[in-house]
Parts: sequence; C-alpha cells; structure tokens
Amino acid sequence: MKNYDGIALFSGGLDSILAARLLMEQGRTIKCLHFYSPFFGHPGRVEHWQEIYGLDIDAIDASAPFVDMLRRGPEHGFGSAMNPCVDCKILMMRLARERMAEYGATFIVSGEVLGQRPMSQRRDTLNVIRRDADVRDILVRPLSARLLDPTAPEESGLIDRSRLLGMNGRGRKEQLALAEQFHITEIPTPGGGCKLTEKENTRRFWPVLSRLASPDVNDFRLADVGRQFWHDDCWLTIGRHKFDNEAYAGLLREGDVHFKVAGFPGPIALGRRSRPWDEDSLREAAALVASYSPRACRASEEGQRISVRVTVNGQTHMVEVTPRRETVFHEPTWEDARDELHALRKPGKSCEQNAGK
Ligand code: SF4
Repeated sequence: MKNYDGIALFSGGLDSILAARLLMEQGRTIKCLHFYSPFFGHPGRVEHWQEIYGLDIDAIDASAPFVDMLRRGPEHGFGSAMNPCVDCKILMMRLARERMAEYGATFIVSGEVLGQRPMSQRRDTLNVIRRDADVRDILVRPLSARLLDPTAPEESGLIDRSRLLGMNGRGRKEQLALAEQFHITEIPTPGGGCKLTEKENTRRFWPVLSRLASPDVNDFRLADVGRQFWHDDCWLTIGRHKFDNEAYAGLLREGDVHFKVAGFPGPIALGRRSRPWDEDSLREAAALVASYSPRACRASEEGQRISVRVTVNGQTHMVEVTPRRETVFHEPTWEDARDELHALRKPGKSCEQNAGK
C-alpha cells in the first residue's frame, strides 16, 4: 500500500480523471479514492473505471462522517438545494489526508477547476477549502495549478509545475481536448449525479435532517426508498415497486412499524419514530397504506372489510381501515424544504438552530 506518490480525490467525473492522469503522465504513482455515501458515489463502477481509464482506485464509504457533518450543520451552508459543497470538499480532503500515511503518499490531488462552479470553486473558496481541510501545502490542483500558488511538491520538484495546466471557468473545451490526448473515449456526463443537488431528493432528505433528533445513515437510506409521508415526528414510507419493498428488509430496525394489507396485493410500508406510535397515527398510516392497493380499495367500495397487518418488533396485530388518501400524513414538498433552507442562508444560523434542536 505504501508505494504511492499521491492520492487523488476521484468522483468519477472527467476533471478527476484528468487530474490523476496528468500527474501519472509525469511518472507519479497515484492512488485514486472514490468516496461514496447515500447521496453520491458509485462504488459498483470502480472496476469498470479502473479498466477504461487506466487508474488505480479504492472505494471508501464516507457515509458516517458525511451524515455527521450534515447533522452538525455545514459551516459554509448549502448550495441551491441541500448540497453542502464547500463542507463536503473539506471533509473529503480531511478523509484523504488521514489516509496519506497508509498509502505512503506525500500529496493530495483534486480535479477542481478555478471558476468552474459558483459556490465551491471560486478562488476565495478554494483557499478556504485548502485552509479548513488543513492541506495547504500538500493539495495539488493540476488542472488550474498555473493560476494558483505553487505547492510543496511542485517547489521540491516532485511535480513538474511547467507540465500542469491553467484551466479557468465553466467551459469544457480544454478538458475534452485533453481527454482526446489521453485517448479517453468514455466521457462522463457533467454533473456527477449528487442527489443533494436535486429538488426531488431534497424533498425526501430535508425532513429527516430537520425533524429527527439524531438522524443516521440508515435514516437517509430509508428516505431514498418509496413514497415519503410525515405527520409530526411519525415518518411513513410506502414502497412503489418490488425493489422498494425488498429494500425495506435491509433497512428495518428495532421499533420500526411494518405495514402490509392483509389478503390483497399491495405495497409494503415502513413507519419510523423515535418513540412508540400512538393508535391514532397507526390507524391513519394503515388507511393510507391500504389506499395504494387498488384491489383493497375496490373491495372496500363493495362493502368488504379491509385489514392491515401491523408488525412491531415481531408482534403483529390487525388494524381495520377504510382505504383513503386524505389522512393526517402529508408528502413533504420541495417548496417546504426550500423555504427552510433559505432561512439557513442567513449568516450565523446553523442547520440545527433552524430545525429547533
Ligand atoms: S455536489 Fe454533492 S458530492 Fe459534489 S461537492 Fe457538492 S455535496 Fe459534495
């Protein structure tokens, strides 16, 4: 493990590929680290990337420290949705720095390009990231290095600064030309697919962060499955198809409420709360779950009694319901999340303060 000159942050995006390859062209040995979490990353693609891009990549689960950062409230705030890009980059660099000794590396590589993104790649922000991650002397940004101060490995001659680049701005022309030079034919689409940048996903994740006292990785994974409904601190997720229903089996934990309509095909639903559910909320949830079983709805209209099997910690009981969509539960909207996130942008207000914790 200890035979690498540097370690590179590798998202799978074109810039991270080019940054690593540029240094490899100089004869430097680079280990790429692909961090993943419930919100970003594709550990399943690592083998393919290694093959087509000629890189040496390790996938690293960053879920727990990332969720911890979200829970504490990102110091530098959120972007256009629930994306805490500056804090995310600081965290990834810190995690990389912690692993340098393990790989024998003396510097960290990042594919950031000056001026490419409004929030996280302005010159002042790049400096903040370098400072707060405590990687001032060891962070090399090969794609924009000629526009930035020289770093220790450049000054020592380990990296030839004259062979680094001076990319600036949002255009991709230079990156595409470099990709061609490196014979890279599979060009990743820009954007990277971080779920926290998308409204649809913010709608799912924000209630978890703002309503639960101490959300963990499993909570955010659950928020990514099925339809989401909330009533105060009662959280109900209803499967949309068999993949959702199967996912619940891996996410179920002590105290969770498992709902299934008895005697009719229909979805599985999972309810979660930090304390036991009250009977009224259980009944409302059961009625909503039954409303997603068309055959149960028809049978109810024909006068048949409908029961939902409710299981908590292995104990099952039946709840008789009339299937209905109008209940005390509601689906969170992007607008709700947007307004609360907007409030957080006010200086000096943290995420946890806004959530009333
Ligand atoms: S888009 Fe997502 S993965 Fe990328 S820096 Fe922002 S928060 Fe991190």
